[in-house]
Amino acid sequence: TRFAELNLCPELLAKLEALGYKEPTPIQAKAIPLILQGKDLLAEAQTGTGKTAAFALPILQTLQAPQRQDEYHLIRALILVPTRELAIQVADQTLAYAEYLGLRVVAIYGGVRFDNQLRKMKRGADVLVATPGRLLDMLLQKKISLQHLEHLVLDEADRMLDLGFIEEIGKILRFAPSQRQTLLFSATLNSRIDELAEALLNDPQRLSM
Ligand code: AMP
Repeated sequence: TRFAELNLCPELLAKLEALGYKEPTPIQAKAIPLILQGKDLLAEAQTGTGKTAAFALPILQTLQAPQRQDEYHLIRALILVPTRELAIQVADQTLAYAEYLGLRVVAIYGGVRFDNQLRKMKRGADVLVATPGRLLDMLLQKKISLQHLEHLVLDEADRMLDLGFIEEIGKILRFAPSQRQTLLFSATLNSRIDELAEALLNDPQRLSM
């Protein structure tokens, strides 16, 4: 498979070429078409498989064309990750892919002061990459809104469960519309992941790499 066969837009194809990506990885070849179709997904994929691009590329493509002009820079995609390091890494990658699309990507995570992250949020974000604790704090303080959310990604969901984030995730989702696309990525699948998937996903496609 080639990226051009996956129905990605010219802006994304140009960026992938500039990055030197020659062809999609197996998870990208399978996940991108399903995500573009609007399906929910339960994917077993380890780090290094190209999973970040597998969810970021199709989400960015759908965000490129908001229903209404005034929906630009409202949070329409949320990527939840277990750690600050991963938040930075996923946001950097997503921002690079978004370069020719004019979309904003912001990361928020704990362990640093609120104000810098809030200042960035004030200018608007189409995609928010966040660790659960810090995001929940900001939601409870009404600093940000998830009212316009269309896509939710749980990245490294098994690590999020191991780190005890299940309660925070539940609370966060009370601030988001239930009508949305949800993608769950996990390095391992087990009964706890199945339970989470059962609670959050709607008729998901399953992929394992
Ligand atoms: P990930 O599994 O998402 O952590 O990605 C691992 C690394 O592979 C990242 O540094 C990406 O920039 C890179 N990568 C992702 N997809 C591709 C691809 N199709 N071709 C070459 N490199 C890629």
